[in-house]
Amino acid sequence: MVLINCDDLGYGDLGCYGSTANATPAIDRLAAEGLRFDDFSMASPVCSPSRGAMLTGCYPPRIGFDSFDGLPVLFPGQGLGLPTSEISMATMLRDAGYRTQMVGKWHCGDQPGFLPTDHGFDHWFGLPYSNDMGRQAYPTEGPMAPPPGREPIYLNPLPLMLDDRVIEQQPDQAALTERYVTESVRFLREAAAGDDPFFLYFAHLYVHIPLYVQPRFAAASANGDYGAAVACIDWALAVILHELRELGLDDDTIVIFTSDNGSRGVDGGSNAPLRGAKTTTWEGGMRVPCIVRWPGRIAAGRTTSELASGIDWFPTLAGLCGGEVPTDRTIDGRDIAPLLLDEEARSPHECLLSYWMDQLEAVRVGRWKVHYAKHGTVRTELYDLEADPGETTDVAADHPDVLAALAVHAEAARASLGDGLPGRAGPDVRPIGRVDHPVPLPAYDPAHPYYLAEYDLTDRG
Ligand code: MG
Repeated sequence: MVLINCDDLGYGDLGCYGSTANATPAIDRLAAEGLRFDDFSMASPVCSPSRGAMLTGCYPPRIGFDSFDGLPVLFPGQGLGLPTSEISMATMLRDAGYRTQMVGKWHCGDQPGFLPTDHGFDHWFGLPYSNDMGRQAYPTEGPMAPPPGREPIYLNPLPLMLDDRVIEQQPDQAALTERYVTESVRFLREAAAGDDPFFLYFAHLYVHIPLYVQPRFAAASANGDYGAAVACIDWALAVILHELRELGLDDDTIVIFTSDNGSRGVDGGSNAPLRGAKTTTWEGGMRVPCIVRWPGRIAAGRTTSELASGIDWFPTLAGLCGGEVPTDRTIDGRDIAPLLLDEEARSPHECLLSYWMDQLEAVRVGRWKVHYAKHGTVRTELYDLEADPGETTDVAADHPDVLAALAVHAEAARASLGDGLPGRAGPDVRPIGRVDHPVPLPAYDPAHPYYLAEYDLTDRG
């Protein structure tokens, strides 16, 4: 099992999803050899809740990941994270006999008890949070500049982790993907030599800003540094597929390729033809590329428009790998193995929910999506995503019956998960993990021989 999760890669960023800006031959080949989802969403349009949801098979508010003391994602040194009372996909697979390895970005808590090695991964090599959360230059003007009269708030150095330890600070981000690939290949060979089932979770730092890229990819890019970062993601996949073939594991390995949320929609990124971007519950924030390849079982070259979500991988992989789905708690994801294996199968989802922090913003049922709010502003708009995937024409006035039907699902969601907009608490939610005296992983030390004392790009995501 190889699960590749990109960071902020948009629906329109890949050749097989219509991009003409980025060259993605390996990803396009993955789609040609497997199944491409046209209507696959993550459970949140931002990093931490999207990842926590995918790992546990639950909507973010279910696991207390609706907000992080009022913030939409986790920040370095916060005393919050995924508690060990939650069962992650890696724990489930390890309990089913799998070797488990993570490379790349975690972003589900950086304190002891919240790390990948506390959540079922035998080993981890990567970043605890986003790659802009290091010691970085600040612009002197514009929205990211410090207010007049205030010093810039310099963050601590960006830590690179090996298991539960900081192994390096301020790593060269342009070289990091290559190091992730090296670690992945080492893991695949070791698992193959032991004849053990394995789970590799590869969570890219790309294409989250700032974008530091290698000259090889920059020189070949027709879409600036963004295209170079996408090309590097593509190259990483090519190496992993090559390795699986060399090891004779092609037919026995499920490879899933997806993204944690939509693109920011600027500086080369695209969610076309969808509306909106990262941080919004328009389709451009929620719907992401998703490709699954399993040559032994999934027919090549298929596409599906059935609804599916990142929260579905937990129960789906449990079913395919002999793992157990917990029965002592609510799990929101559904087993979508039938969608993978059978062209006639239909989505198991009666509805899909879009929360922004603790507020229920949108509900999807079949072709219809109703929007109830955007970042605290109430609205009622209805879109027919089959006829209007770009959410351009509000048809609420024409379909009071559809609105009423979707309102039943919204009410069921509020009655279980809550909704901050009307001030309702959810009765079936579990608390986020919390430590009382969090310690930032590394503090800045002027005497430390950093390779890069400060990243020089001012991009912040
Ligand atoms: Mg992201």
